[in-house]
Amino acid sequence: QAWFRDPALGRILALLNDDGGEGRVVGGAVRNSLMGLPVSDIDIATTLTPEIVMERAAVAGVKAVPTGLQHGTVTLVVDGKPFEVTTLRTDVETDGRRAKVAFSTDWKADAERRDLTINALYADANGEVVDLVGGLADIETRNIRFIGDAARRIAEDHLRILRFFRFFAYYGSGRPDAEGLKACAAARAKLKTLSAERVWSELRKLLGAADPGRALLWMRQVAVLTEILPESERWGIDAIPSLVATEKALGWAPDPLLRLAAIVPPDPVRLGALAARLKLSNAEAATLKAWAMTAPVNDELSPAAFERLLYRNGPDGIVTRLKLALGVARGKAEVDLGEMARSARLGKLLDQATTWKKPQFPVNGGDVIAAGIASGPRVGELLAVLENLWVEENFASDRATLLARLQEHTR
Ligand code: ATP
Ligand code: MG
Repeated sequence: QAWFRDPALGRILALLNDDGGEGRVVGGAVRNSLMGLPVSDIDIATTLTPEIVMERAAVAGVKAVPTGLQHGTVTLVVDGKPFEVTTLRTDVETDGRRAKVAFSTDWKADAERRDLTINALYADANGEVVDLVGGLADIETRNIRFIGDAARRIAEDHLRILRFFRFFAYYGSGRPDAEGLKACAAARAKLKTLSAERVWSELRKLLGAADPGRALLWMRQVAVLTEILPESERWGIDAIPSLVATEKALGWAPDPLLRLAAIVPPDPVRLGALAARLKLSNAEAATLKAWAMTAPVNDELSPAAFERLLYRNGPDGIVTRLKLALGVARGKAEVDLGEMARSARLGKLLDQATTWKKPQFPVNGGDVIAAGIASGPRVGELLAVLENLWVEENFASDRATLLARLQEHTR
C-alpha cells in the first residue's frame, strides 16, 4: 500500500527501530489497509518510553509534540504529516471508565489491552503483519470480536459496548459475534456511567457509517440503543434505511445528526433535553432541533412564504428538516402515490433552500439617523419595523422606496 511506502513514515520507523528499540504501525491503518480501505491517520506503537522518543526526535531534527505524555503519546511531525507514537502499555487497574496503565516492552500485552481483534494488528518496518490475537482471520471474515473474554473486556471499559457496534457498522458482515453481543446486552446498564462526551463521540462516529442501519437494529435488539437513546423507543429506527437510500440517490454525504434526528421524535422539548444530555455543541443542537420545525414542510406554504421563512430562520435548519422529510417520503413513495407527489414537492423546496441567497436589506442605521432620528434604541426599532415591512412585501421595495417610507414615518 502506498501509505506504507511514504518516506515520512519510513523515517519515523527508522528512528524508532534503532539501538534495541522498535516501532510498528498499529490499529486503524493496518486494519483498513488489510481490508483495502483508505487509511486516514497512522498510529505507531513503540517499545521506547516517550522521553526517549522525544530525545531521538530532537537528535534527528524531527518535530515532536508531547500530545499525551501521561498516556505515553508523542506526536512526531514529518513533511507536515503528524504520526502519533505511543509507548506499549499494559493495564494495571481499570474501573470501567478509565484505566491506569503502565509502560511496557511487551507486544503481546499491548495487543491484549486493545478492544477488538481487528484493531490489534501491527505492521513492522518491513510491512510484515504481526498478529498476536487472531485478528487476521477476523479481518478475512469481517468478524467483529473482542480480544479475550468479552464480558471482562467490557467491564474494563464500558465504552467498548458502543465501539463493538461502531466497528460492526463500518466493517462487520453477517451477524455480530454472538459472545460479544451477549456481553454487550448484559452490561448495557453500565453505559449510564460513562461521560456524555465519550458516548456522543462514539455514537456520532457510529451514525456516520455509510449505513448504520444494521448496527442500530442489533443495538435495539439487545436493548443497548434504548439505554443511550430512550427517545428512539417510540419513534423507532425504521426511517434509517429510507434516509440512507435517499442520501445515496441524491449524493448527500452521510450526516450523523440527520441520522440521529431520524430516530427520535420531532418534539422540541425532548430534542432539547437530548442535546443537553449528550452535550451536543450549539451548532449540533441547532441542527437536531430543526427536526421539530413544522413550517418548512407545510404543504400549503407558497413560494413567497417559503422565501420569507428562509430569510427569517436562515437556510440551515430548513435544509435539515427538508432532507429528513424527503428521506421519509421517498421511502414511502415506492408504495404510495401521494408520497411520491410529496417527495417531488419537497425536492423542489430543498433545491430552493440550498440555492437561496439572502437578499440584502438596503437600509441601515445611518439612513435612519440621516432621516432625523437621534441615535439610540429607537433607531434599531425603526429599522426592524422597516425590515419587517420589506420582508412581508417579499423584498420588492428598493432603497429609494424604503427611504421615502422612512421620511413619511418620521415626519
Ligand atoms: P479510526 O481512527 O478509524 O476510528 P482506530 O482503530 O484508529 O479507528 P481509535 O479510536 O483511533 O480507532 O483508536 C486507536 C486504537 O486504540 C484502536 O485501534 C484500538 O486498538 C485502541 N483503542 C482505542 N480505544 C480503545 C478502548 N476504549 N479500549 C481498547 N482499545 C482501544
Ligand atoms: Mg485512529
